[in-house]
Amino acid sequence: MENCIFCKIIKGEIPSVKVYEDEDMLIIKDVNPQAKIHLLLLPKEHYADITEMSDAQAQTLARCLKKLSTMVDALGLNDGFRLVSNKGAHACQSVGHLHIHILGGNQLGDRMC
Ligand code: 5GP
Ligand code: ZN
Repeated sequence: MENCIFCKIIKGEIPSVKVYEDEDMLIIKDVNPQAKIHLLLLPKEHYADITEMSDAQAQTLARCLKKLSTMVDALGLNDGFRLVSNKGAHACQSVGHLHIHILGGNQLGDRMC
């Protein structure tokens, strides 16, 4: 999708700190961390939020989350973590490409709803 910052990151047009990548997803460090560990899971296919995803995209996202559960050690999330996905501006969504916040360790800021 043109003018989508996360599509540009996925295509490598905007730099990011990548911690994992496969054919379905990219996991990057959030540029403005709100927790000790703040990662973003980005499906490679563009859709705005969970209300816009197809059945196939839902299955892909479920597969990504299942895979995430096998990376807990590698990502330093052994002490626990939260998954957050904001939908809509009133719920603090600022980027219209579905993403799952992965938050580990103490909360640093209060920006996350
Ligand atoms: P939202 O507000 O949509 O739930 O979350 C968007 C997140 O994307 C925010 O936590 C914000 O810090 C992060 N973000 C916005 N632009 C960039 C960027 O260019 N690079 C990275 N790594 N994170 C970004
Ligand atoms: Zn996008």
